[in-house]
Amino acid sequence: MAVLANRDNDVHCDVCGTSTRVPGYGEQFGALQASWGYGARHDGERYRVRLCESCFFMALSYFRQERRVHHLFDDAPQDDDHEFGRIARDDYWADS
Ligand SMILES: [Zn+2]
Repeated sequence: MAVLANRDNDVHCDVCGTSTRVPGYGEQFGALQASWGYGARHDGERYRVRLCESCFFMALSYFRQERRVHHLFDDAPQDDDHEFGRIARDDYWADS
């Protein structure tokens, strides 16, 4: 995996390279990760892409669009796209 050279010890976004540190609040980043196992085409491979808030939501937007395309002609109505991927709200301490 290509790693961008950083001048600090911050976690930097793997897409745009910006620091994920929010002054006074620490590092804020999302991650796309996978660990493929037996039977998968990528068996034995592990992935992790760390994303700043902007790049995370751009990636999520892409996934929402792909989801809409895949289900475009389904008979059943689709779930609300604004909820796609969200597993909690108002969870400020990540404890749910
Ligand atoms: Zn970024």
